[in-house]
Amino acid sequence: MTRSAEATPEKPVVHISFRDGSCSECGEPFLKGRFILFDGPDRPVCLPCGGLDHLIFLPSGDTALTRRATKYSVLSAVVVQFSRRRKRNERQGILVESAALEKAEAECLDDADARARARDRASVKREAMDLDYLKRFTAQLMDRYPGCPADEATAIAEHACEKYSGRVGRSASAKILDDRAIDLAVRAHIRHVHTGYDRLLAAGTPRAEARESVLGQVDRVARKWMSGKAAS
Ligand SMILES: [Zn+2]
Repeated sequence: MTRSAEATPEKPVVHISFRDGSCSECGEPFLKGRFILFDGPDRPVCLPCGGLDHLIFLPSGDTALTRRATKYSVLSAVVVQFSRRRKRNERQGILVESAALEKAEAECLDDADARARARDRASVKREAMDLDYLKRFTAQLMDRYPGCPADEATAIAEHACEKYSGRVGRSASAKILDDRAIDLAVRAHIRHVHTGYDRLLAAGTPRAEARESVLGQVDRVARKWMSGKAAS
């Protein structure tokens, strides 16, 4: 991952040399691709002379790791490489203290583990609860709206179930016994599928106005479904 970045002023900038050269301070030759600093436009300095040779390189790409390693490193540097094609320095990563990187890595691992465990717990719970919820919702819907076509009943129940999955702290049984929840789900479905509501919204009609204007249609379909007659 590269991204144009001139480093923040307080951080040293380390360059990846694009040619062989030698340190302007100690005279030690370096090869293309080595980390160097610049004392001046034509004064490359090796890392030991620059006092940064104890730092280790962390390539760009893992944002959380980079952020944490930078936070824990008393001294860090930004590593850039000059792109001849784009005529600018591009950020390649950072140099940080090894202890800081180790600490950052440990934290990121903990997070990843914790996230994975939470995901597992959620999906197990969801699978158990949702099938039950879906079945009961569909049964109650068909009982209350016998005229509702089966495929639409399924769609309504699945949608309600999806929404329900995102909620916490409500028991399925408490929710399922409430006919109002069924009515709301059914009416929302009718509004979207059997009226011009969505088109009105798309055309910029205010939500309240759009709802008002399709109310009669929604009532008509809902009454038909309740009475056991499928709507056209
Ligand atoms: Zn040197």
